[in-house]
Amino acid sequence: MDYYGSSIGKLIESLQSLPGIGQKSAQRLAFHLIGMPKEQVRGIAESMVDARENVHFCSQCQTLTDGDICPICSSKKRDHTMIMVVENSRDLAAYERTGRYDGVYHVLQGVISPLLGVGPNDIRLKELMQRLQNADGSAAVQEVIIATSPTVEGESTAMYIVKLIRMLDLPVRITRIASGVPVGGDIENIDEVTLERALSGRTELK
Ligand code: ZN
Repeated sequence: MDYYGSSIGKLIESLQSLPGIGQKSAQRLAFHLIGMPKEQVRGIAESMVDARENVHFCSQCQTLTDGDICPICSSKKRDHTMIMVVENSRDLAAYERTGRYDGVYHVLQGVISPLLGVGPNDIRLKELMQRLQNADGSAAVQEVIIATSPTVEGESTAMYIVKLIRMLDLPVRITRIASGVPVGGDIENIDEVTLERALSGRTELK
């Protein structure tokens, strides 16, 4: 990479560390950045640093946010008796785009995957159980909708969650999104109509 000089070489190398960016894309992006107005490049760099420094997990639903509690959890308009369990913040965004869900979420930040060495303690399951146990009176959760992806990992994570909730012995309805979601599909890439159907056709897990 010497023929580019060290600044460009370093930039290409840094960009290559991002997911989905190979050497060719990294070169293309690097040269594009160099051709952009300095102010614009500074803006991009600052927003990256700013997001990395200020964004953390919502203390209730574990999604990414820059406050202590995310806008959904702090909203009085949302139905706090209904929790939809999703794998990540991108899936939450996908359901929000349907505009048809007014409950709250719980973001696992992953799925159980023995193959990748991800166990139950590596995702935000403990936080979900705490939420279910701590809620009392009018805030008590009435339904938990499990909306993990219909992949092998997503399904086994769903089953594991059902088992954990049953152990708490709470009067909570547990449902699973319908099969409108294609098997093996990633929630975030599914169109809004299909997601909405999957949600409205959810079935109770006995
Ligand atoms: Zn939240």
